[in-house]
Amino acid sequence: MEEEAIRRIREGFTALYGAEPEGGWAAPGRVNLIGEHTDYNDGFVMPFALPHVTVAAVARREDGVLRLHSADVPGGPVELRVDDLTPGSDKDWTAYPAGVVWALREAGHAVTGADVHLTSTVPSGAGLSSSAALEVVVALALNDLCALGLKGWQLARLCQRAENVYVGAPTGIMDQTASACCEAGHALFLDTRDLSQRQIPFDLAAEGMRLLVVDTRVKHAHSDGEYGKRRAGCEKGAALLGVDALRDVPYADLEAALERLGDEEEVRRLVRHIVTENQRVERVVSLLESGDTRAIGPVLTEGHASLRDDFRISCPELDTIVDTSLSAGALGARMTGGGFGGSAIVLAEEADVDTITKAVEKAFATAGFKTPRVFEAVPSAGARRLA
Ligand code: ADP
Ligand code: MG
Repeated sequence: MEEEAIRRIREGFTALYGAEPEGGWAAPGRVNLIGEHTDYNDGFVMPFALPHVTVAAVARREDGVLRLHSADVPGGPVELRVDDLTPGSDKDWTAYPAGVVWALREAGHAVTGADVHLTSTVPSGAGLSSSAALEVVVALALNDLCALGLKGWQLARLCQRAENVYVGAPTGIMDQTASACCEAGHALFLDTRDLSQRQIPFDLAAEGMRLLVVDTRVKHAHSDGEYGKRRAGCEKGAALLGVDALRDVPYADLEAALERLGDEEEVRRLVRHIVTENQRVERVVSLLESGDTRAIGPVLTEGHASLRDDFRISCPELDTIVDTSLSAGALGARMTGGGFGGSAIVLAEEADVDTITKAVEKAFATAGFKTPRVFEAVPSAGARRLA
């Protein structure tokens, strides 16, 4: 499968640019098991990599030209000059890879141009981080080809900078780190304050379970603005409590912190979500490490309630997935990603997968929602060189 993908992307590169690429690279999308909206609060997250990847064939250039082509976007290669790259100047998909080249050069790395041809199996805009996969695959290819010697977490930081500054999307560090650093059969326990990480064995199939991703195939229009509001509200909470970030409020101090926030009802709800969510990540880690995998189900479901009621970023489609799958026997379920659409995850016994899938599809049809896309998420490898 992977060999076929790389053969095709190499052939595509040669047809497009009239020369062989120097290599092929892959970077995955991700799904977050638990730890939602904690990454811009210096907190904990726990993503794992999907089998879905962005695959790129790349060759260096010495002449300052950057040519970018996606097989998934109509039209020929877009040609840019590395000297001209300026944050905010590219309005389409090319801003992501161009932003990576900009961030590498801004950090003092000698990138003198490249030809890039890529394609992806990561659903775009589904909350599964197609943007991070796109950034990380380009960063890893240039890291290898230009012998920059950067580690996965360093590439992730540069990719985040590309997305925040060059593209102009205020995202945390989770997505890029997940794509760069995850390992097959594991979830990544990541402390987003210092990027320290631990690979946690997460092999559901061996224990007779499955994790389903249900993509609602909707993205409600106001989602970006709402993300910004939540972020600002969390910062306000940290300022009112006199801490650098909400990560610094221990779970044991939550009640006292809420008391101090007085009648700041909106901020109180955001703070409660972040503090309890960090604690949920730690509970999931300890349950997995003690082999009590089924017991993470209720913790995931608790996380959903917190995102729905306190953080208020769910939507009818996501709530329908969670409620329906739990009624149909799921061990746990929650929305994942930014909210207001995107995807939910469902933890289930293998034997219940068909019943749950049918129940969710039926509930969506009854409610008049778009037909959801359901697939099984197997914890897969992070970014890597393929050829
Ligand atoms: P998500 O990361 O959740 O998929 P984003 O809105 O952050 O959603 O990123 C999606 C954007 O990334 C797309 O609109 C497009 O600009 C870019 N993108 C993702 N995959 C590809 C691809 N295969 N080819 C070109 N652009 C892509
Ligand atoms: Mg994204």
